[in-house]
Amino acid sequence: AQEHMKNAEKLSVAGQLAAGIAHEIRNPITSIKGFVQLMKAGIGEKQKYFDIMTSEIERIELILSELLILAKPQTIKYERKDIRVLLSQVMTLLDSQANLNNVQFTTEIKPGVTPIYCDENQIKQVFINFIKNAIESMPKGGIVRIQVMNEQDQSLRIRLTDEGCGIPEDVLAKLGQPFYTTKETGTGLGFMVSQKIIENHAGSIRVESKVGQGTSIDISLPISI
Ligand code: ADP
Ligand code: MG
Repeated sequence: AQEHMKNAEKLSVAGQLAAGIAHEIRNPITSIKGFVQLMKAGIGEKQKYFDIMTSEIERIELILSELLILAKPQTIKYERKDIRVLLSQVMTLLDSQANLNNVQFTTEIKPGVTPIYCDENQIKQVFINFIKNAIESMPKGGIVRIQVMNEQDQSLRIRLTDEGCGIPEDVLAKLGQPFYTTKETGTGLGFMVSQKIIENHAGSIRVESKVGQGTSIDISLPISI
């Protein structure tokens, strides 16, 4: 198995800048999108150009929304949360996408799992990003295994394992680089954003992957910070 330790520290300045730019660009984009939709109404056969413009604008909006997760530090609130509850809410959220792709979730929660201090929305976003990647790695369906356990070093470990395509070494080396994607409509931001959030929680991410067999993402979070 290939193993890789991730250190997202170098991304912090770039991340703040990216989030700031995303914030500034969002309003003008919303305005342009609105006028494109209005113009489309009276345009006859050129409507398809407006559909392309709208879908391109929606792509910009997706990229901005992913970058914006890093911004707004004023809304970040650390509270004591039960990770099991956050995970089950995320599974409910991703249920229809999983069903559509013939993906099932299994959960194994070790006894004695303790609550941790975290920002609920940010940690949920991390689970969403990784579980989405897991689903997308299994075009023919499969199982996403979710394990939660306390570790002896006062940390909580969440392990997400898929049975997907796996990550080749060259891709593994680029994981966490902004905009690096192997998907046709990917943004290449999910991993970087997740890394940044876990770094802000004083945790760490570890990736193990075998091409053709699947990928495990280990998220380790301190029990008290
Ligand atoms: P995106 O999902 O938009 O491509 P990410 O940052 O989430 O961006 O992931 C970057 C790349 O890492 C993906 O394009 C894919 O090649 C690879 N990857 C991430 N997670 C997995 C996984 N569970 N299985 C296989 N490949 C993965
Ligand atoms: Mg992704």
